[in-house]
Amino acid sequence: MERYGKVALAAALAIALLSQVAVGQAKKTAAKTASAKNVILLIPDGASLAPETLARWVKGSALSFDEYTCGLVKTHNSDMTIADSAPAGSAYATGFKSQTGNIASTGKVYSAPGLSVPSLGELRPVATVLEAAKLSGRSTGLVCTSEFMHATPADFAGHDPSRKNYDGLSEQIIHNNVDVVLGGGWSFLEAANRSDKDSMIEQIAARGYTLVRTPEELKATKETKLFGLFAPKALAYDLDRDAGKEPGLDEMTSKAISALSGNKNGFFLMVEGSKVDWAAHANDPVGIVSDLLAFDRACKVALDFARKNGDTVVIVVSDHGNSGFSIGDRSTSGSYDKTPYTVFYEPIAKATKTGEGLESLLSADKSNVRDVVAKYYGIADLSDEEVAAIAKAAPGSLNSVIGPMMGARAKIGFTTGGHTGEDVVLSVYDPSGNRPMGVIENVEIARYVERSLGLDLSATTDRLFAEAESAFAAKKAEVSVDATTDPANVRLVARKGDVELAIVQNRDYAIVKGMAKTAKGVYVLGRDAAGKETLALKADGVAVYNGKKWFVSRNLIDAIK
Ligand SMILES: [Zn+2]
Repeated sequence: MERYGKVALAAALAIALLSQVAVGQAKKTAAKTASAKNVILLIPDGASLAPETLARWVKGSALSFDEYTCGLVKTHNSDMTIADSAPAGSAYATGFKSQTGNIASTGKVYSAPGLSVPSLGELRPVATVLEAAKLSGRSTGLVCTSEFMHATPADFAGHDPSRKNYDGLSEQIIHNNVDVVLGGGWSFLEAANRSDKDSMIEQIAARGYTLVRTPEELKATKETKLFGLFAPKALAYDLDRDAGKEPGLDEMTSKAISALSGNKNGFFLMVEGSKVDWAAHANDPVGIVSDLLAFDRACKVALDFARKNGDTVVIVVSDHGNSGFSIGDRSTSGSYDKTPYTVFYEPIAKATKTGEGLESLLSADKSNVRDVVAKYYGIADLSDEEVAAIAKAAPGSLNSVIGPMMGARAKIGFTTGGHTGEDVVLSVYDPSGNRPMGVIENVEIARYVERSLGLDLSATTDRLFAEAESAFAAKKAEVSVDATTDPANVRLVARKGDVELAIVQNRDYAIVKGMAKTAKGVYVLGRDAAGKETLALKADGVAVYNGKKWFVSRNLIDAIK
């Protein structure tokens, strides 16, 4: 904390003043001065304060980001006290609060005290810091341990009213040209599992990515446009991970940084420790603490790079609380100050598998419950009732059965299997001394990244997500929706004179007619059945249909004269 001292206080005051006017100024000035070249944002999803305290006890020393802790972040939605990851991550990505399920879109209801309704309209896409960083010439990356189209990563490179639209979100992330994407989720890209029956794996290759599937391939590659998919859905918890099959979050972070940092203009990288949240839902303290420590190692990688690099901001912040995790529970009501510290962390430190990881070790007849739990989870005194409950656990639910058994032994309390509404811890390393401090709103994180990288989110929203029907109509173009040529990939068609644009939903191009092959941004997309070239015009971003309206890149509208 010392290295900031008075400078930090002055900077905090300056930021407080600046943030009042920043939004208004954004529209007037196109290029702004950056105070950093790179930003790395690391999110331990669903991590509350208390698990971080316990993780520190288990680790036996400070967490890598402890020395940079500078504030708390309010996580509430535009309408609800308790957020899910979609609006919580969107606030960090876009600077807008929204509602349950919304991915980088405005919400409908802005009823939380002190909020005004955005003038942009409801459920409309808003630009992310990743998209703005990309347009500034920087490289971009997303690293996670969930499937890569899960809410938090999707928040930075996808737009949809619903986080459940995996097909659309994965297509958008791929077409947003994120340079490095590392995580899980290849099953969601296979043609057979998709409503559009398109193989996104083929599209990844066609778009110039190198696809790696093992830690060995990840380690070996020198490519800078890189997709790494290491599991059909989410990756394993770090404790359960087979290091031959899946890389650690620290390894993925390290590779992403080395791939992105070759760009002299800089980079933006988001890293999510996705499954801290999932273990919290299951009330499994082993999964929570061990995945937090894996996340901590990824933070160390980012911080080591930043301290050497000198021009990199590192932000570590959870998106919302989860589970009401407490160190001390009902059983310590009368003995909390007589309970040695080892009671709380030793049982957890002993476990070598999470509740999820135990599942594959149990025999079909479940006769080895006692042995397996004693050997890998450190509980040697299971009651007969507990053994029966473990044996009965439905597939995929063992962590939520056995987690609370560990909680009871380690005197860890849980109040809920859902998210919680308290503030989360903010840690920031910023060599310029301009980091935010105090208790801030989640949307201020996006504004801080915007300032640090000299971006303009408002102008980027204008550039990437113009409301298409009215914009084309203003140019006297004829507009229609084509759901028959390729029913799985609906197109918005705009026509004027000889020029026709067929803008494909979730993708970064329009199929064009009446434009010269040599025109700016035009390229050969493929050939039709007769062997004739199909031309496309590259868009600055992806086309989004929110169920009511189309939002497309301004450069597509400009193609109609
Ligand atoms: Zn959650």
